[in-house]
Amino acid sequence: MEKIKMTTPLVEMDGDEMTRVLWQLIKDELLSPFVELNTEYYDLGLVHRNETNDQVTVDSAEATKKYGVAVKCATITPNAARVKEYDLKEMYKSPNGTIRAMLDGTVFRAPIIVKGIEPYVKTWKKPITIARHAYGDVYKASEMKVPGAGKAELVYTAEDGTETRELIHNFKGAGILQGMHNLNDSIESFARSCFNFALETKQDLWFATKDTISKKYDHSFKDIFQEIYDNEYADRFAEAGITYFYTLIDDAVARVIRSEGGYIWACKNYDGDVMSDMVATAFGSLSMMTSVLVSPNGYYEYEAAHGTVQRHYYKHLKGEETSTNPIATIFAWTGALRKRGELDGIADLCAFADKLEEACIKTVENGEMTKDLALITTLENPKTLNTQQFIKAVRATLEGLL
Ligand code: NAP
Ligand code: MG
Repeated sequence: MEKIKMTTPLVEMDGDEMTRVLWQLIKDELLSPFVELNTEYYDLGLVHRNETNDQVTVDSAEATKKYGVAVKCATITPNAARVKEYDLKEMYKSPNGTIRAMLDGTVFRAPIIVKGIEPYVKTWKKPITIARHAYGDVYKASEMKVPGAGKAELVYTAEDGTETRELIHNFKGAGILQGMHNLNDSIESFARSCFNFALETKQDLWFATKDTISKKYDHSFKDIFQEIYDNEYADRFAEAGITYFYTLIDDAVARVIRSEGGYIWACKNYDGDVMSDMVATAFGSLSMMTSVLVSPNGYYEYEAAHGTVQRHYYKHLKGEETSTNPIATIFAWTGALRKRGELDGIADLCAFADKLEEACIKTVENGEMTKDLALITTLENPKTLNTQQFIKAVRATLEGLL
């Protein structure tokens, strides 16, 4: 079989630890034999980030703006222990945070559904995609401990010096305070990313906040979404046969549990953080969760939702056997290759991505899986494979499909 050719480079962001090991195995066994990989390689492994003072992360995001599509391996976000372990010049920021800030994106996370890994919620038949706004709110808040009685106010000083004040509370005793913000620009691009992704994946879009209580803050989210929908998207949604639907967050959680799945649930930053962990766990496993950053300018960055699987990596370094699930990382590659194929009009590349995903699912459904899935599957007598054996098993299934 002749290898599939690519016309535009894919931005490849390599990463750390066990997922870096998986990265190479996936390329060697599942991609390079079938596709003439055309990538622009950026090593976001912590060693190289340190060597370049993290410039490589910035460069990789710039390259994503240039070419439009990236695939990213999980990376270490350094903490104090990592600074020591890697003898770092500084405690670099999270690469995902840096890239997200540069591309101004929204993160969409969806579970990979396979028979034998059953959701805890019996009614869920189709994936639920969580779209998390990734700017502001409690993640960029200022906080204060109030030591005792006194008055707390919100003060906004305009550029001309005029002040607007709003009483927060007349404290009679000690307490706590928090001030948070968001930006209309950021909420607008969040809304457009969600509407575009819904159109692209032909799924309904749900959005929910606590606008009944938060009449200015959350209500602004609701209003901005509605205005953009009415002015820019309503016709296209009707044409595509999908709907946009706003409800109160309390109502949304109840509806989500009763639903069949098959839609996108747009969440404010904190709701998305918490709900994506809940949805991932309820669908079975974090190792079966895909993640894509979509920017309002049409840039895409695909990754796995899990981290670098540090514990497995230390076993690997000691020469011990590991059983690390590569499926989410494989789906990051297939997502990126399919998107490249769509943009460049290479049908074979899209078809290859579909087949590789099918091969992963079939392999698991045939009872061959890594340990994390073997522990929770409803299939009888699953065969637990090690990391390398599982990738080889996917290769065999793939060759049968091609
Ligand atoms: P993690 O890498 O997601 O792993 C946590 C645990 O979940 C693992 O120890 C393992 O459980 C299980 N697990 C996760 N992925 C798995 C897979 N593919 N196959 C099998 N089991 C899997 O989270 P972490 O250990 O908290 O974080 C490690 C590093 O990853 C940190 O330095 C963090 O900064 C980084 N991180 C990066 C990203 C990213 O780049 N997107 C996201 C999150 C975390 P068992 O050990 O019980 O088998
Ligand atoms: Mg979280």
